[in-house]
Amino acid sequence: KVSDIGALVLVAIEVDGGRGLPRSAGLANELFSHDGQITRSAVRALTLSALAPRCGEMLWDIGTGSGSVSVEWCLTADRTQAIAMDVRSDRLQNAEKNCAAFGLQHRIRIIAATAPDGLTELPLPDAVFVGGGASEHMLDALWKLLPEGTRLVANAVTLETEILLAQWHERVGGRLIRIDLAEAGPLGAGRGWQCARPIVQWSVCR
Ligand code: SAH
Repeated sequence: KVSDIGALVLVAIEVDGGRGLPRSAGLANELFSHDGQITRSAVRALTLSALAPRCGEMLWDIGTGSGSVSVEWCLTADRTQAIAMDVRSDRLQNAEKNCAAFGLQHRIRIIAATAPDGLTELPLPDAVFVGGGASEHMLDALWKLLPEGTRLVANAVTLETEILLAQWHERVGGRLIRIDLAEAGPLGAGRGWQCARPIVQWSVCR
């Protein structure tokens, strides 16, 4: 079992030219193994800010994909833990790789499951991130299960999920933001803005 500091140093030496890892959330996408389905760096930073990890807290990362959010949850506050869940075993392999690369196997438990099935058997979280699979059924199940004070953050990329989050925001409140990001890229002889799909993020305290 590698200590957190030891693991950070190892990752820093291997992938970041020995300069050390930045302490802020929103690490470069290239630091993670992924298949293209990853919460991008800037959106991840805003997601971590909304999840607001504090020392010793537990995250449920539903639709963990590459596990990048669980990894950053564990890196940004001491003694935090995460339960990372996904339906896709190929994605969970990336999540396992990433947990190992950051030396976080002892703090991130990876589970192959379709949420909200099986959530009732898990230790209750301080925060929940729904990065995939948000549905009326899922949010309803979470709302019933989560104790008061639990922070819930959900990201939507499809119109259908966006509508769902807007309805929940109307019903129970919280904060709804839309993240419209553009990055400069080559265009002809010059450069132009390349727009990412807008992400709608709902965060609420149960
Ligand atoms: N935050 C992730 C990306 C999530 S992509 C990252 O940074 O890598 C959304 C993921 O949700 C997909 O991997 C998909 O398989 C998963 N998913 C969709 N519905 C789900 C459900 N009901 N339970 C668990 N995982 C689900």
